[in-house]
Amino acid sequence: MNLFRMGLAYIQARRAMAIRSRRKLEERQLRLLRRHFRFVLEHSPFYRRRFREAMKGWESPELTWERLGTLPLMDKETMMSHFDELNTAGIRKEEAFRVAWRAEETRDFTPQIGGVTVGLSSGTTHNRGLFLVSKEERERWAGNVLAKLLPRGVTGRESVAFFLRANSNLYTTVSQRWLTFAYYDLMEDLSAHVERLNRQKPTILVAPPAVLTFLSEEKERGRLDIAPVKVISVADVLDDRDRQKIEGQFGKPVHQIYQCTEGFLAATCSHGTLHLNEDIVHIEREWIDRESGRFVPIVTDFCRKTQPIIRYRLNDILVLADKPCPCGSAMTAIERVEGRCDDMFYLKDEGSGRYRPVFPDFIRRAMWQAGDEIRHYQVVQEGPDRIAVAFEERRGTDRKRLEAAIRSSFAQLFRRLGVEEAAIRFAPYRHPPADRKLRRVKRDWSP
Ligand SMILES: [Zn+2]
Repeated sequence: MNLFRMGLAYIQARRAMAIRSRRKLEERQLRLLRRHFRFVLEHSPFYRRRFREAMKGWESPELTWERLGTLPLMDKETMMSHFDELNTAGIRKEEAFRVAWRAEETRDFTPQIGGVTVGLSSGTTHNRGLFLVSKEERERWAGNVLAKLLPRGVTGRESVAFFLRANSNLYTTVSQRWLTFAYYDLMEDLSAHVERLNRQKPTILVAPPAVLTFLSEEKERGRLDIAPVKVISVADVLDDRDRQKIEGQFGKPVHQIYQCTEGFLAATCSHGTLHLNEDIVHIEREWIDRESGRFVPIVTDFCRKTQPIIRYRLNDILVLADKPCPCGSAMTAIERVEGRCDDMFYLKDEGSGRYRPVFPDFIRRAMWQAGDEIRHYQVVQEGPDRIAVAFEERRGTDRKRLEAAIRSSFAQLFRRLGVEEAAIRFAPYRHPPADRKLRRVKRDWSP
């Protein structure tokens, strides 16, 4: 652990967070981007070959904003199929998978190949992605996360409780006298963790929204006795209804981290607004609906050298904030992370009969509107005009009445959007396994 490097990343991030001028921030981005691009061309045979066509007319290999937009897009499939030539550490895919899987089976969270941490992204067995992070990148990551998240700077002594689906070296880097980092394995029974939390008394609590909701219920029942200074939601979409519940119990605004294997992409500021981490990544917007501010992020990370991420199109929908954040940061403010593009519903327009996208947020709102008594739910589009609603109601609630309320709430939504009605089928709610992402709104069918 190189404290100097971590400290440097911390200071750099704090400085970037203080930038108030968008022009200055973009100048900084371009400078870092250019340097990184030269490195990638030199060290990654895959990118060198891939960019050759686009770079034909360039008189020099110097990147500009305009030129960046002409480079080919990247996705998970391409990244995985060219893994060996893409990474700059000479690590082969088969070996990386073998090491990562073995580590996962034994729940030994130190899988490394020559000092490079190997991780697996969550997903089904067939489409899991691999990620590589060097020791240096890990330290920089830790410095940046601390800069964005420590509520009291480095002066306060913090004790962090971190709930994760799978641990890796990436996350256990931080353990110093002034900072304790306790990891909670989501594969274990949640109730057992309550005891441990009571002993640890964390000042910072980091967990997926479903776990935070569970913990706030435990607090309500008097079984959990902790009073963290900061509560942070990670990994899944934070539903507004869950947010209210958690805030009500912990008496603190819920902060968020938007982080995936493709990078540390956004974090909330002191005002609770999500800002893109434009000090370490550049994010282009592929508009889905400009009017409502919805876009798909295309990520270029200008810090990751081991597994360079250039123009990587994420499968997420972000919503731009409609007004600047009072904190004054020049980094783009985000209203929310809405869900995955794959989970947008497609329903037929009443007039033209063409399929129209229906955003996950509309579906979530229709569910809230149906009533407070719905504790958990999942809405799945199963076919062109079929929707399955699984839900769990509060004890003592009339389920039939709730079903009628959900039907009428969806009927209203369809009318408002001007789409053909879809048939609704009800089912009992099943909690997803702990190692799976919680997707409240999901689409199992393609138009
Ligand atoms: Zn802000």
